[in-house]
Amino acid sequence: MKIALLSRNKKLYSTRRLVQAAEERGHSIHVIDVLRCYMNITAHKPTIHYKGAVLHDFDAVIPRIGASITFYGTAVLRQFEMMNVYPLNESVAVTRSRDKLRSAQLLARKGIGMPVTGFAHNPDDIQDLLKEVGGAPVVIKLLEGTQGIGVVLAETGKAAESVIQAFMGLKANIMVQEFIQEAGGADLRCFVVGDKVVAAMKRQGPEGEFRSNLHRGGTASLVRLTPEERSTAVRAAKIMGLGVCGVDMLRSNHGPVVMEVNSSPGLEGIESASKKDVAGIIIEHLEKKVTESTNKIDRSRTRGKG
Ligand code: ADP
Ligand code: MG
Repeated sequence: MKIALLSRNKKLYSTRRLVQAAEERGHSIHVIDVLRCYMNITAHKPTIHYKGAVLHDFDAVIPRIGASITFYGTAVLRQFEMMNVYPLNESVAVTRSRDKLRSAQLLARKGIGMPVTGFAHNPDDIQDLLKEVGGAPVVIKLLEGTQGIGVVLAETGKAAESVIQAFMGLKANIMVQEFIQEAGGADLRCFVVGDKVVAAMKRQGPEGEFRSNLHRGGTASLVRLTPEERSTAVRAAKIMGLGVCGVDMLRSNHGPVVMEVNSSPGLEGIESASKKDVAGIIIEHLEKKVTESTNKIDRSRTRGKG
């Protein structure tokens, strides 16, 4: 296969591992910086230009699009789709996953367990919003936050009220969530490829920290998932329409609750915690999917002729 890997930095662990895994399996893989791509969207034959040349003959595209470049990154991915290049994750699914409110609504609608969650932009009645999610302690999150920044634990109603007022003053969209205390500062990252959880890790925040993000000093270890946790992760991935993703959940008294689904999950933490060749598993999945989709196209062509 000829694979396009959309990544801004060749040196990142995940990028290097995917390149290595693809080359080991005899594929040619090209790292492409989406911000340097330009496109002709109106032509009879849609094209992508990169560093002065036209990209062509790609069989598959692996998007690794950072949160800060979602808009342009998904546009480039969409252009690959217009050129019938098979995407590991579709552009619509990537866009969907970047909107925490949209994702939460979708997952809730399909019955995925989640912490009780309220959304607000400018609530007139903060006490009512707090009551709605069960009262303090609550977790308050900025919708645009990542890596644990913008996630606050408010232990009392008064603290919650002042944090919400402060965020409102900044005109930020916020999410107010039931605090899952019994999770003990740990969460589960389930790495889904296709219809399976291929690796999982438990992330534990440092002493006295409720956030388990590795960027906030958390540590990762191998974990055995329950069948319910596995099936929740696979269902969440399916609902989001993502072929490869990281599903993050908390172990609550009422079963697994999903916090977020990440469409460009990092490989470093999960490969070192699980000792698995996750990059290789992703490339093998892609081989299978590309073959399936080519067969489908061939069949429809034959039908067209007959
Ligand atoms: P980010 O996108 O910044 O990573 P998260 O929603 O994943 O934000 O929250 C960061 C961390 O905070 C989680 O990994 C988890 O450990 C902790 N956390 C988040 N929400 C809750 C909650 N409702 N109850 C308990 N802990 C939570
Ligand atoms: Mg997180």
